[in-house]
Amino acid sequence: MIRPAPAIEAIPAMTPFIGPEQLMRESGRSELVRLGANESAFGPSPRAVEAMAAELPRISWYGDPESYDLRVALSRKHGCNVDELVVGAGIDDLMGLVVRAFVAPGGAALTTRGSYPTFNYHVTGYGGRLVSASYRDDGMPDLDALLEVANQEKPSLIYLANPDNPSGTFVRKEQMIAFFDALPRDAVFLLDEAYADFVDESDLLPPHVEDRLIRTRTFSKAYGMAGSRIGYAIASQTNIATLQKIRLHYGVNRNAQIGALASLDDEPFRRYVVDEVAAARADYYRLAADLGLASIESFTNFVCIDLGTADRATRVMNELLARGVWIRKPGLPPLDRFVRVSAGTEPMRDAFEAAFRAVLSEVPA
Ligand SMILES: *Cc1c(COP(=O)(O)O)cnc(C)c1O
Repeated sequence: MIRPAPAIEAIPAMTPFIGPEQLMRESGRSELVRLGANESAFGPSPRAVEAMAAELPRISWYGDPESYDLRVALSRKHGCNVDELVVGAGIDDLMGLVVRAFVAPGGAALTTRGSYPTFNYHVTGYGGRLVSASYRDDGMPDLDALLEVANQEKPSLIYLANPDNPSGTFVRKEQMIAFFDALPRDAVFLLDEAYADFVDESDLLPPHVEDRLIRTRTFSKAYGMAGSRIGYAIASQTNIATLQKIRLHYGVNRNAQIGALASLDDEPFRRYVVDEVAAARADYYRLAADLGLASIESFTNFVCIDLGTADRATRVMNELLARGVWIRKPGLPPLDRFVRVSAGTEPMRDAFEAAFRAVLSEVPA
């Protein structure tokens, strides 16, 4: 009998994300209003599209395995050295490398229960032991509880998304500095800044390179390049050298390198997206308030709306899907009573609003 390696056999079967394409196949729909994956509704920068289109005939070439030009541009943006950066096929890829590098089989890794699930998926996949602290009821990660579990369980890796997914909440700079200072000195802190482009740089943990800090960024959200799969990590030279040993050297799409580089040159476009997203959030807050529902103030490109119970939130999500509007919801308490809606264009928001109003009247509290 053929069996996988024991560590792999021990992993429970799971599908962390059911994509909208699968949902469309299942429901026989040819179209969905895509508000479920925090993709950008505002597309990539026209400059990125132009640069990628111009280079497309050379897709027969591998990309530069060092992503050198992009790293040079990123080193300027972040005021760090080129050898303090590594480019990967999105944060999801880099997160896998960080887990593999810093969590030994059987070792503990700490996260917030119900936060970004790909971290958990990698920890389990590499044979680590996941430990967690809960969210607070207001949607903030409970930093005190995280510190307590960190001191008890001695994880070698501690994960926090800031701004957070799925809550949209944001830990402010002073609090983040205090949290980082209070963490055990022998643990690596993986700070996932997938949504950093939606907040002011001055509100984030200041640029800082130290062996116990790894930050990740992506072109998937504000830069609207999710499908091209490209992101990067900022870390100490030593840690980058470690990740360098295990990364897939030709794992980054050549066109993505080109598009990412062009995007960095288009700051007005990023500002435009950030403003559009702010308008979308404001619309969702207003809609929720108008319906007598609470929402969580978001620092990302999505908003969580409170439906009171997990059961109602799930039913509302399913009914919206039946009407062709795809959203997601947090899976675990205390946030499982919310639905999470990505920032759409105005027509997408209108479609969501109409369907949401209709569904709410059918799915009683
Ligand atoms: C979207 C998201 C990611 C994934 O980023 P990619 O670069 O597309 O892999 C990682 N972390 C968080 C918190 C996210 O919301």
